[in-house]
Parts: sequence; structure tokens; C-alpha cells
Amino acid sequence: MPARSGKDYLDRLRAQDTEVWLRGERVRDVTSHPGLSGGARAIASLYDQQMDPALHDSMTYVSPATGDRLGLSFIIPRTQQDLENRRVMMLNWARTTCGMMGRSPDFMNVTYAAWAGAADYFGQGRPDYAENMRRYYAYISENDLVLTHALINLQRSRTVDGAFNLQEGTALQVVKETSAGLVVRGARVLATLGPLSDEIAVYSPRLGQHTEAHSPFALSFAIPSATPGLRFLCRDSFDYGKSHFDHPLGSRFEEMDSIVFFDDVVVPWDRVFIYGSVDLLNNTAYKTFSSAHTSHQGAAKNLAKCELVLGVALLMTETLGNAHLPHSQERIGELMMYTELMRACIRASEADARLNEYGVMCPAPLPAETTRNLFMTAYPRMAEILQLLGSSSLMILPTEADMDAPLAGHISQYLATDSSDARSRIKLFHLAWDIACSSFGQRQVLYERFFASDPLTRARALAAIFPKQEITDRVLAFLNQEDGPS
Ligand SMILES: Cc1cc2nc3c(=O)[nH]c(=O)nc-3n(C[C@H](O)[C@H](O)[C@H](O)COP(=O)(O)OP(=O)(O)OC[C@H]3O[C@@H](n4cnc5c(N)ncnc54)[C@H](O)[C@@H]3O)c2cc1C
Repeated sequence: MPARSGKDYLDRLRAQDTEVWLRGERVRDVTSHPGLSGGARAIASLYDQQMDPALHDSMTYVSPATGDRLGLSFIIPRTQQDLENRRVMMLNWARTTCGMMGRSPDFMNVTYAAWAGAADYFGQGRPDYAENMRRYYAYISENDLVLTHALINLQRSRTVDGAFNLQEGTALQVVKETSAGLVVRGARVLATLGPLSDEIAVYSPRLGQHTEAHSPFALSFAIPSATPGLRFLCRDSFDYGKSHFDHPLGSRFEEMDSIVFFDDVVVPWDRVFIYGSVDLLNNTAYKTFSSAHTSHQGAAKNLAKCELVLGVALLMTETLGNAHLPHSQERIGELMMYTELMRACIRASEADARLNEYGVMCPAPLPAETTRNLFMTAYPRMAEILQLLGSSSLMILPTEADMDAPLAGHISQYLATDSSDARSRIKLFHLAWDIACSSFGQRQVLYERFFASDPLTRARALAAIFPKQEITDRVLAFLNQEDGPS
């Protein structure tokens, strides 16, 4: 089947019976629920781009297996050109959502493309698992499915032993093996896009050596989100049903985060990719380079976010008439630096891309991973800069309803600036507020701080791939120079 349209996506979502809970109620149709429908429509609009004649060729590629045109983020890159083409496609999606849907489907698509390209990795000791991976990748790419993922076990305590979050009764684990498959029980967080997904992938960041040989916690699998026993519990929605004028981002891009409960869920054997092997699980991201691929995807999202914040900041200072003031210029300069750093890291990760041992062209890990670490502190700072630039204007925010109400005349007289009419000013500052101040905006800050793990884990991940020796050798060579006349 070729790449699908937004309607195809929504129809399938409507037809499946995923168990989603929000505000104490079972959601029967996520595509029409007020807290979720905005996000569903946004994802649908991404799929519609694939059908747009002007974009079709740049958003899709010809599958070597079927000859159909599939979504380009599913491509297994073989050349640097493939990576560049894929980035153009992902940046199109990211710009459409202003970078506010970090878990747009390309995130998981590039993950499974990397894994399918390296399918033999999963077949070590279990050749059938390599076949499972190949078949599953063909299934999701040819049906253009949306995946969510949940990697983190909930923690009852933060003891040293709890570092790998493996408390009995909480962590997701295999409780039984049957002829139909593995039976798993436990809970996982944080399935962003969970209620809007077709499938859920479960794997894990690094895992403790629970037992040397075999761990019931060492798992990588994927199943339909509508599998019996699977329950998605949403946080409250940040889409408050307001207009795009009043709530420009939250009314459009609510991707929703959810806790997932697995109540004795059956995972069919053909959906198992890793079971029992702690080493295989721990090394997946680096051996298959899936981490570099998801960083490449994340960097496109970061760039779209940088562009949005910088664009808003420029317009804010223009509107308020303070663009010429030194403190504004310094802050704008900082935003420009983040934007250019992001663009440069993307280019570097593509320019220095290499084939891995499985013949997959992979973005250079160091510049790609750097974009993740950088954004953990850069994005909160970017939101802070909007607050500093905006000050009380971020609270001078009459609603759309006020624009035609009795005080409309006062609004247009007093809220206009030398360079902007009142309506344009208010509209712009609603956007700045939604980036820097609203619940939606603060969730974005939290997302960038933590979505790719906690800061210490990220720092260690970067240190693990950084060529430290090269740097220290240079310093030692300097120190060991013969002292001579100055
Ligand atoms: C908005 C959002 C969306 C997300 N989406 C997804 C998703 O789609 N899929 C998914 O799988 N995950 C997702 N995540 C989860 C993310 O992977 C985790 O938040 C991340 O791995 C950190 O884990 P944690 O939240 O359990 O933090 P914790 O481990 O609870 O850490 C909290 C803080 O305590 C610090 N800390 C932890 N242990 C110690 C210690 N022993 N000593 C001192 N300090 C410590 C950490 O550095 C951190 O600052 C999302 C997170 C957010 C915020």
C-alpha cells in the first residue's frame, strides 16, 4: 500500500478500539474528543502533505520492495543524499507543527528503519527475531502506521538499585511464556502520542544486568495500541477548546502524553525483537545507530523550533519598538546562535555520515547527539528570552471575543504600537505566550529537558562517543614541548 492521506489515518484511528482514558472517562473516539482531536488533525495534516502533488515526490520514496511510494521517513538510507532528502522531508513536517510535535511519526519511523537495516543485530542467537524485525518494518512502512513508544518503568523509589527502575510489581516484565506469545505485565511511561497511535513500541534505555543470562525485563517488541489489556491513561489535555487566535499552539498541536498499563498483555512471538538479552538491549541504540538517526530527526524538530522562537522574537521587538535596544539585540543574537548551531550540527552529521556495518548510511553520531544535549538547556533559555523580551505584553492579552466586545475601541486605541495595530500585536503575543508561558509551552520546556532521558544520562552518552584521547594528546603535546627562549 502506498503512503496514506490524513483521512486514511483518521479513519483507521476511528475504527480501532484502543482503550484511552482522559479526565476519568473512556474516550470512544479520539478523533472527535475535544482534548485530542486537534492533535489528531495535526498528524492528519502531515499525511496530507504526502498526497499534495507539489510535495508528493519530496515527501515519499519508491520502496525497493514493493515499488510503491512510501513515506520518506521510512527509508533505509544508503547514501548521504538519502539522509539529506529525508531531512528535507522531516523539516517540512517539523515546520508544519512549528516543532511542537516532537513525537511526530517520523521519530519512530527512522528508529525502525535503522533497526530493519540492521535486522541481523536482533537475530544474534535468535535468527527468527531478525525476520520479525524485517517483517514488522515492512508492515508499518507499507501501511504507513503511527507508532508511540514507552521506554521508562515507573519508580517507587530513587535508591541506587532503582537506577534501572526494575522494582517488582511496577516495572514491565514477562510473567509467562505461552504458545501464543509472551504475557507481559506492568506499567510504562511516557507514551507521547499514545492515544493517537496505531501501534506501540516497547524497548528500553540501558538496563541493569538483572541476571547474567536472561532477564524478564529485557524486552523489545511492538503491538497494536488496541491490544486487549493495554490501557492508556492521559494527563489532562492542554487543548482547552479555544480558538487559534487565543491559543495558537495548544489548539493545534496537543500530542498528549500517557501512562500505559499492561494488564497481562499477550505479545505474539512474531512481534518480539529482543527477549532476555540484557546486552543486546543495552547496545541496540549504538550498534544499530538508531540513536544517531533519532537525533537527526530531533535536530530537524529543534531547527523548526529555533526558527519559530527567533521569528517570534524578531516580530515582538519590532512590534514593541525595542529592536534597536542593546539588551534586545543581545538576546536576539543568542537565539540566532542556537538556530545556526542547530543547522550546522545537522549539516555536519550529514557531511560526516558513514555506512555502518549493516550498510546503512548513518548521521555522524557526535554532531547529531550534540543537538539533543544542547537543546536540554538551550530551549528553556529560548523560552526565557521570550519572557524577558515580552514582559507585561505577555499578559496584555485580550481574548478574541474581546475584539468585538464593547471595549474593542479602547483596545484598538491603546494597544496599538507605532509599528503594529492592536489586533496584530495581540495575536502575535498570544503566540509568544503559548511558547513561553502557557501550560502547553511549559510542557514543551519539560519535553526538551527530558524527552531524551535525564541530563546526567545524556552527558554520559555524549562522553562515551567523544574522542577524548585526541584532545588530551594535543594538550599533552603542548605541555611536553621543549622549553626554549620566548
Ligand atoms: C514531555 C515528555 C514527553 C516524554 N515522552 C516520552 C515518550 O514518548 N516515550 C518515552 O519512553 N519516554 C518519554 N519521556 C520520558 C523520558 O524518557 C523520561 O522523562 C526521562 O528518561 C527521565 O526519566 P524520569 O522522568 O523517570 O526522570 P527521573 O529518573 O525521575 O529523574 C528526575 C530528576 O532526578 C535526577 N535524578 C534521577 N536519579 C537521581 C539520583 N539517583 N541522584 C540524583 N538525581 C537523580 C535526574 O537527573 C532528573 O533531573 C517523556 C518525558 C517528558 C517530560
